[in-house]
Amino acid sequence: MFQKILIANRGEIALRVLRACKELGIQTVVVHSTADSDAMHVRLADESVCIGPPPSRESYLNIHQIVAACEITGADAVHPGYGFLSENAKFADILAAHNITFIGPSGDHIRIMGDKIEAKRTAKRLGIPVVPGSDGAISDEKEAKRVAAEIGYPVIIKASAGGGGRGMKVAHTEADLEVALQTAKSEAGAAFGDDAVYIEKYLEKPRHIEVQVFGDGAGRGVHFGERDCSLQRRHQKVWEEANSPALNAEERSRIGGICATAIADLGYSGAGTIEFLYENGEFYFIEMNTRLQVEHPVTEAITGIDLVHEQIRVASGGGLSVRQEDIKFNGHAIECRINAEDPRTFTPSPGTITHFHTPGGLGIRVDSGVYSGYKIPPYYDSLIGKLIVHGRNRVECMMRLRRALDEFVVDGIKTTLPLFRDLVGNPDIANGDYDIHWLEKYLAKGE
Ligand code: ADP
Repeated sequence: MFQKILIANRGEIALRVLRACKELGIQTVVVHSTADSDAMHVRLADESVCIGPPPSRESYLNIHQIVAACEITGADAVHPGYGFLSENAKFADILAAHNITFIGPSGDHIRIMGDKIEAKRTAKRLGIPVVPGSDGAISDEKEAKRVAAEIGYPVIIKASAGGGGRGMKVAHTEADLEVALQTAKSEAGAAFGDDAVYIEKYLEKPRHIEVQVFGDGAGRGVHFGERDCSLQRRHQKVWEEANSPALNAEERSRIGGICATAIADLGYSGAGTIEFLYENGEFYFIEMNTRLQVEHPVTEAITGIDLVHEQIRVASGGGLSVRQEDIKFNGHAIECRINAEDPRTFTPSPGTITHFHTPGGLGIRVDSGVYSGYKIPPYYDSLIGKLIVHGRNRVECMMRLRRALDEFVVDGIKTTLPLFRDLVGNPDIANGDYDIHWLEKYLAKGE
């Protein structure tokens, strides 16, 4: 087992990882920018190292500084959290070259999944169902037209290097295709320095369903069921649930089994999420994330298993603590992402939190790095906390969520709490009847 883990992140996820380390009796080091000297994770860690000024590229993305912090403190492993360097293959390789363990998959697996064309090809080879589309990058308009005619309109052009929903364009007819192709290419070139794009069938009313997987790096793979993350705004997840209201136990174990086998065949190590669009009973792979997800607590709530403990165990060579047959799904869980944003316009609202009171009671978990008197710096993303609620079934979970949202108090800044108070009373949400466009339509109506 590791002696000392360096946490290369900030905010609620830094605290989340720190808690797991403390439980396992592992010493902790955190790195932070000058803007985060007062952050909770800095206060609670055994050691902290200031690695640079506020902008991320000079601190949380600065590989040299992080490796230097490992050497100074004698950390033998790094947990990257999510975002920042968590899916940076070069970072994983550099740590390996310094004999520091990256708590995550190999650089090669990160590289494959970071290139969407390569990821889709790999998924297909491993027996995972994919969205019909071009086999690789599209070279010109003629080829785009041929593929689109074959799969049928509407189609979506996507950037191979894509992320965060950028570089995607929909074409409803052949007449739209030329413009869609050109815009997607130039957006991708500008955003990622790589203008390779591919084409796939555009699904009109899918749900976003993702499967949590784990590999032990020695040929064993398991799945921890799925999460439904269909409630999105601008491709950003807002509300996540496990299990998905749309799947039954048979579908869960079928798609879970396919993913677990694929992960085993790949020789993958650590946590991963295989993302699908789901429409008319069919799953279509869109991408794989090679890290812990923001929404991992809903899976922890229904399985009772600490996924960060598992990540640390696997990375240290101790293997998974569970076999597939040990993983049981109990009840229902929902997570609301609470952002420091206006609940209607989503404009960021940094500033000082004058009062912070979190709900409690059975089935309630709040993961947050903020506190009363904390000043939210304007440099990073606006997530200030996650409310995770568990109940014996979805109805009980929703009742408890409504109560917990009423108890939650954040004064001094605007937050997205009022949006969740509206959503929890909405009949479509109560019925679990929504697709990936539901939230945007709801917000556009201004209800
Ligand atoms: P990114 O990495 O940029 O987030 P993804 O491939 O994960 O890109 O897609 C992000 C979102 O875009 C999906 O959750 C979905 O809302 C939409 N999307 C992607 N591919 C399709 C498709 N073939 N049909 C319909 N919507 C899609």
